[in-house]
Amino acid sequence: MLLKKLVDLSRDPAPLEPGVLPVPKPGPGEILVRVRACGVCHTELDEIEGRTPPPHLPVVLGHQVVGTVTDRGSGADAFQPGERVGVAWIYSACGDCGACRRGDENLCAEFRATGRDVNGGYAGYMVVPEDFAHRVPEGLGDSQAAPLLCAGAIGYRSLRLTQLGDGQRLGLTGFGASGHLVLKMARRRFPNTETYVFARSETERKFALELGAVWAGDTTDRAPEPLDAIIDTTPVWRPVVEALGNLAPGGRLVINAIRKEDADKAQLLRLNYPEHLWLEKEIKSVANVARRDVREFLRLAEEIGLEPEIQEFALEDANRALLELKAGKIRGAKVLIMD
Ligand SMILES: [Zn+2]
Ligand SMILES: [Zn+2]
Repeated sequence: MLLKKLVDLSRDPAPLEPGVLPVPKPGPGEILVRVRACGVCHTELDEIEGRTPPPHLPVVLGHQVVGTVTDRGSGADAFQPGERVGVAWIYSACGDCGACRRGDENLCAEFRATGRDVNGGYAGYMVVPEDFAHRVPEGLGDSQAAPLLCAGAIGYRSLRLTQLGDGQRLGLTGFGASGHLVLKMARRRFPNTETYVFARSETERKFALELGAVWAGDTTDRAPEPLDAIIDTTPVWRPVVEALGNLAPGGRLVINAIRKEDADKAQLLRLNYPEHLWLEKEIKSVANVARRDVREFLRLAEEIGLEPEIQEFALEDANRALLELKAGKIRGAKVLIMD
């Protein structure tokens, strides 16, 4: 499925077109992956609508890819043919700069993203440098593993960046694919932590309570207790302001969104220093993922038997999956399945 031009999804409901491309050849150090499943991510909407535009078009979107190795370029020997691998948002980085050397390759100036800067997984095949492919734990099915590669891995990084301790109160504003995985991770890693969920739809709130949140309200509600950390996964600004109001003194808001939409930017003018920032409240964003996030998280997922709630679509129904995501029709993670 090819993205040939950037569009406004409210006017053009079919941004992707089916197309036929030659099977790519793996270059030195690269592997060819036959794609089995690819998760659908909110970032794809940002790409399609131009908030994080692909540098070249047409492009194949998709950065939560699970497949099997079918060919190897020269010098590629980390995986055997037939082995199952995952590919995440991080496609490559320079390997040489300060950020790369300290393992923060997610911040490398030469960071390249799967399914934006290079063709990704909304396709039958893709190539990837073997150093940036990840072993997928046996216990996870293809469709279960796919959303872990973005929503899960970035959720893992977000949770780490909150610096939460067990027993501290956690808030999640927005409750899509990443939110529900973070709730499951938090319950396991911080058994004495209470999680409060802010979501705009009743379905999402009900889902959060089913998964063990102690409270669920609208993104504009005030939580019954001040929260030590909040992770924001919404695409807009109002929940940021509301979250700052919900933070306890010294609390930290971690924004896990690659871009924010401009529609409600005026909400930021409601920022009131004593209510929203005073008393050492902090705001931090999460950018991309490093390989260690993906790998540590996949191990954790296997260890704790993390199984994301998923909804499967055929590859040719990618446009419908994207539109449902845009409309906020979310119950778990959407995954495209290849024949
Ligand atoms: Zn993603
Ligand atoms: Zn670098």
